Amino acid sequence: MQIAPDDIQVAGTDLAIHWTDGGESYLGLEALRRACPCAGCCGEPDVTGHIDKPRVSYDPTRSFELRSYGILGGYAFQPLWGDGHATGLYSFELLRRLAAPDAQHPPA
Ligand SMILES: [Zn+2]
Repeated sequence: MQIAPDDIQVAGTDLAIHWTDGGESYLGLEALRRACPCAGCCGEPDVTGHIDKPRVSYDPTRSFELRSYGILGGYAFQPLWGDGHATGLYSFELLRRLAAPDAQHPPA
């Protein structure tokens, strides 16, 4: 069975995800935005395969605010950020991996 979120909630500046396997992940919204996997944030390889990571500027009050989100095709999470950025598709696997370092520190 593919792992998927069965509940996603914004808790303050964190995204709290409950997974179908019973696990829970907490992701800081700012860290989530900074990990945006879209081409505009991560860059695209040129013909030689070299990737120039673009310089991304964030608005401190809006870029890390989650306005809404969608679940795409049952495999990815697509956030709409307060500054209008919505091209990042986070596969569930990526979400789970991003949350891993915090897994040892669940909020009280
Ligand atoms: Zn992006």
